Amino acid sequence: MISAAFEQIILIVTIVAQISLILLLLSSRRHALVRWVIIALATLCVIWPAGLLLFITQTSDLAFTTAVVKVYYLDGAMIGVLLVILAHLLPYRRKIALKLKALLALVVGVIAVITLLPNGMIESVNLGGDHNSVTLNTPLYFVYVAFFGLVIAITMTLFMLGYRKAIRDKQHKIAAQTRTMIAGLAVALGFGFWFNILLPFWGDYGYVWAGPPFTLLFVVAMFYAIIGQGLFDLRAALARSTAYLLLLATMVASYAIIVFTVTNVFFGHNNQRATLLTYVLLALFFTITYPPIKKFFDQLTYKLFYRDDYDIKESLADITEVTSEELQLEKLVRRSLDVLHESLAPSYISAYIVDDEGKIRHYTSGPQPPTPHQRKLQLEVVGTLLDRLPRVIDAHDSQVLSETGAQQRIRKADVSMLLQFVVQREHIGALFLGDKQNGTQYNEKDLQLLTTATDELALAILNSQRFEEIQHFNDTLQSRVDSATKRLRRSNQELKKLDKAKDEFVSLASHQLRTPLTSIKGYLSMVLEGDTGKINTQQRQVLEQAFASSERMVHLIGDFLSVSRLQTNKFTIELSPTDLNRVIEQMVASVHPIAAERKVKLSFDGVVSKRHILLDSAKIQQVVMNYLDNAIYYSRPGGKVTVTLDYLDKEAVFKVNDDGIGIPKEEQEALFTKFYRAQNARKKRPDGTGVGLYLVKKIVTSHGGSVIFTSKEGKGSTFGFRIPIKEPYKDS
Ligand code: ADP
Repeated sequence: MISAAFEQIILIVTIVAQISLILLLLSSRRHALVRWVIIALATLCVIWPAGLLLFITQTSDLAFTTAVVKVYYLDGAMIGVLLVILAHLLPYRRKIALKLKALLALVVGVIAVITLLPNGMIESVNLGGDHNSVTLNTPLYFVYVAFFGLVIAITMTLFMLGYRKAIRDKQHKIAAQTRTMIAGLAVALGFGFWFNILLPFWGDYGYVWAGPPFTLLFVVAMFYAIIGQGLFDLRAALARSTAYLLLLATMVASYAIIVFTVTNVFFGHNNQRATLLTYVLLALFFTITYPPIKKFFDQLTYKLFYRDDYDIKESLADITEVTSEELQLEKLVRRSLDVLHESLAPSYISAYIVDDEGKIRHYTSGPQPPTPHQRKLQLEVVGTLLDRLPRVIDAHDSQVLSETGAQQRIRKADVSMLLQFVVQREHIGALFLGDKQNGTQYNEKDLQLLTTATDELALAILNSQRFEEIQHFNDTLQSRVDSATKRLRRSNQELKKLDKAKDEFVSLASHQLRTPLTSIKGYLSMVLEGDTGKINTQQRQVLEQAFASSERMVHLIGDFLSVSRLQTNKFTIELSPTDLNRVIEQMVASVHPIAAERKVKLSFDGVVSKRHILLDSAKIQQVVMNYLDNAIYYSRPGGKVTVTLDYLDKEAVFKVNDDGIGIPKEEQEALFTKFYRAQNARKKRPDGTGVGLYLVKKIVTSHGGSVIFTSKEGKGSTFGFRIPIKEPYKDS
């Protein structure tokens, strides 16, 4: 015979244990429906043993005991109903349809009528004897038992179906949790059915106390399962409760010590003033010490319960380091995922990044990456739903999910947390996390880390996308420049070829022209010298014109040939002892007829010395000729052209000065370049070529000298050269 005290202790322990579990559940901050169902269930599981306790300890009050008996029978029935609801909600948290709700209400009504009515199922309550007992109305009790049988069958079937589905969907964790619940439930229901339904049915009322402890087993199994599912954060609840208990203990102890010390030691017993003073002191003490003591215990318990925890500041610093170091998108995202994975240890963490063209890139880290099917679902969420979803989704918070309508996809995709990357209302991707590997749910600290990290990462991602765009742009720009350069090079080669062909043509043509021209000049000179008979003055004038023109043509051809030689690098200087003064004299003499014709006064002021210096005489003739020719042609009728030659210490200085049209200031810079002709010159002499000065400069610099040039538009110009004097070697 088990002693009555033992029975009572068992029931009291059960009650206390259930109440603590309820308190833990209440302290959790989540508000899922299933949590409330479990709280209600646990409460009913408290009422039941409490009723039984009252029942077995009552000895006299029959009416009260009868009421208690009725209540715990009804309570038992309600436990059954809640079990059905729970089995419906777990493990997949289906919605409860209206029809089911109505059916359950009806069943509760019927059972309530059967149990509560006077002369109902409970015929009489018998106090005294070995133990108190209840006489039951057999047919009605049969209904009650049948109801229980049905409840057990439905609950078990629903749980088994959930289990099979979890296995089919390869959701191993849910399957394991469901298995635990089925085992706990089977034991609790089995024993409860035996001790509290069958034995009383057969009239043995001595073991009613034995059923409730087994409900504890079930409630604990449920706890285990829902902790695994992340329905609430057990660690946070435990930490908070412990901190609170320690705080309470410290406060009570200090209270006791202060009251004892102040009243007894200092004032002796029953001193009213002392008691009053104590209370004031206590009030002061609590006001001052409460916050620091609370903080101290909070930190202590936090350390105790979160020993394996990460430091949020460090993790965020790591994220900042990554975002500031990495510009390349893939590296940026992968490294950030690694940091988050190290801190939170989720089964997986995936990032989906949407680019400007709507393409989605995907990165994953973690030991249990989503299956291809789950990834497809996640992609669908990212591709179509992001802007309709809240920025942060905790998949265990069924309220948020049912509002968004994304419930199905997110559940099936094995997502525990979803955080979006949003920059200035632009949704550029999302972070998906599986459950934490240690089985706890994401707590507020995790959430803080995740939200701060995603915000920071979102900006960095946007930056990196812009950077990639610019880089891409640079690449295309570079390749365009490259191909344009290639095209230019090709056409440049073409041009060079054409230029060469032109040079060859000019050179050929010039050569071909020179021979007939020389013979024309020769014949003209014969006629002029009277070899073909006497000529009159008029004929002489005409012939002299013809001779001068042919002379000029010879020079022009000479210029062309020289330029073409310059192009083909065949231009050479052949120095020979030359009397420069004499050369200039001859050239001035040869242009006299032209000057006279254009009514230009031409004078030469040379040197007396018959000194010979080293020059390429033919080329210097070209230089002098060009200068003289220009000065005469760009002078006005009546103008004056003065030619001078000086031998200075080390150089010969030759100048041709005119008072002609001059050269506009802005055009002077381009002078001496090939084919350049000033605007005013084009009008004055449309048949000019623009090669003369170019050639002059080449020849003068080839002699180691420099050109002289000053001019004023409308006033005249001075052209010339300075050439270093090189004496020919004298034979000793
Ligand atoms: P061309 O005389 O056949 O035009 P040049 O090479 O000899 O070619 O001269 C180039 C340009 O320099 C001329 O077109 C002209 O504009 C300018 N120029 C040369 N000499 C004079 C000058 N004495 N007075 C004014 N302009 C001159």
